[in-house]
Amino acid sequence: MRHCVALSSCTSGLMLTMRALDLVGEVILPSFTFSATGQALLWNGLQPVLVDCDREKFTIDPAAVRRAITAQTSAILAVHVFGNPAPVAELAAIAREYNLRLIFDSAHAFGASANDTPVGGFGDAEAFSLSPTKLLVGAEGGLVTTNDDELAERLKCGRNYGNGSGYDPAMLGLSARMSEWNAALALRGVSGIESRIAARSRIAAIYSKAFSGVSGLSMQSIPLGNHTTWKDFSLVIDPQIFGAARDDVRSAIEDRADTRTYFDPPLHRQRIFSEFVEHCDLPNTEWISQNILSLPIHSAMSEAEVRMVTDAILAVGGHRRMRTARVGLGA
Ligand SMILES: *Cc1c(COP(=O)(O)O)cnc(C)c1O
Repeated sequence: MRHCVALSSCTSGLMLTMRALDLVGEVILPSFTFSATGQALLWNGLQPVLVDCDREKFTIDPAAVRRAITAQTSAILAVHVFGNPAPVAELAAIAREYNLRLIFDSAHAFGASANDTPVGGFGDAEAFSLSPTKLLVGAEGGLVTTNDDELAERLKCGRNYGNGSGYDPAMLGLSARMSEWNAALALRGVSGIESRIAARSRIAAIYSKAFSGVSGLSMQSIPLGNHTTWKDFSLVIDPQIFGAARDDVRSAIEDRADTRTYFDPPLHRQRIFSEFVEHCDLPNTEWISQNILSLPIHSAMSEAEVRMVTDAILAVGGHRRMRTARVGLGA
C-alpha cells in the first residue's frame, strides 16, 4: 500500500476516513457487525442504511447492497467479519457502477486475504484495529491503509485536530494520534503474526471436524481463495434441531468455556440506531445473531483445551435430544 496512517483506534480511523472523503447522505453497511462500525457513521451525521448478511459467510450480501442503493447513497462500508473478507470484487463492481466510495472495516482482518490477495488494498480505504481482542494488538490503536494520496494527507491532518501546517485547521479533526507506546507494542506483534494465524487455523480445523455433520450445528463458511484470521470461531446453533438453544448451551458449558455472543444484538436492534430501522427486514442477521456462539480461540490454546470445549457442547446437544426422544416415547 502507498499509505498506512496510524491512529488512536479503528473507530477514529473510520470517523476520519468518512470525514476526509466528505461523504454525505446515506451509507450502506451490514447490521451484523460491531456497534463501532455504525457509530463512526453517526458521528459524521450520515444516514446508516443497514442491510442483511450472507447466511453462510456472515459478510454483507452484495444483492442486499444493490437493493439498498438510492440517489442519496454515497458509500458502502463493508466488514471482514471475524476475519473472513467481505466479497471485495462484487462490492468493487457495485461501487464502480454507481460511483460510490467503498470503505472496509478491517478490524478483525490483519493478516487475512481475499482472492489470494492480502487485505489492506481493497476499496478506497481499509481501517484496522489494534485493540486487545484483535489479531495484532497495540493495547489500543488503529491503522488506515489507502492508495489515495489526498485521503492519506487529510487523515494525517484529521488525527491532529485538522491541523496541517499552522493552526488554522484544514478540516474538522480529532485528537486521534497513535501513541509511541502503542506503536512499539504493535510493531513487536507484527513478527509472528503468520504463525499465530496458522495456530488459530489449526484450532478452527479441530472445531470444524468435531462439529461438522452434527445436526443443528453450522459454522461460518470461508469462500475459496479467502484466508480468514479466525479472529473468532463461531457456531450457529439451530435450537429445534440441536435440541438446545444458544443461551442454554452457553450456560451449560460456562464452567469450562468462556464464550461470547458476537454480534447480538446486531445494529438494527441497538437503541442508538432505532430511528434508522423503519424498513429493516434482515432474516439472516436475525437468525445468526440469535443463535451464534463464539468459542474460545487463541494461538496458545492446546488441543486438549479445544477438545474440552467440543466435548462439552456435543454432550449438551446429545443429552437434550435423548431426553426429548424419551419424552416422545412415553407420550
Ligand atoms: C473492535 C472493532 C472496532 C473498533 O475498534 P477500535 O480500535 O477499538 O476502535 C470496529 N469494528 C469492528 C468490527 C470491531 O470488531
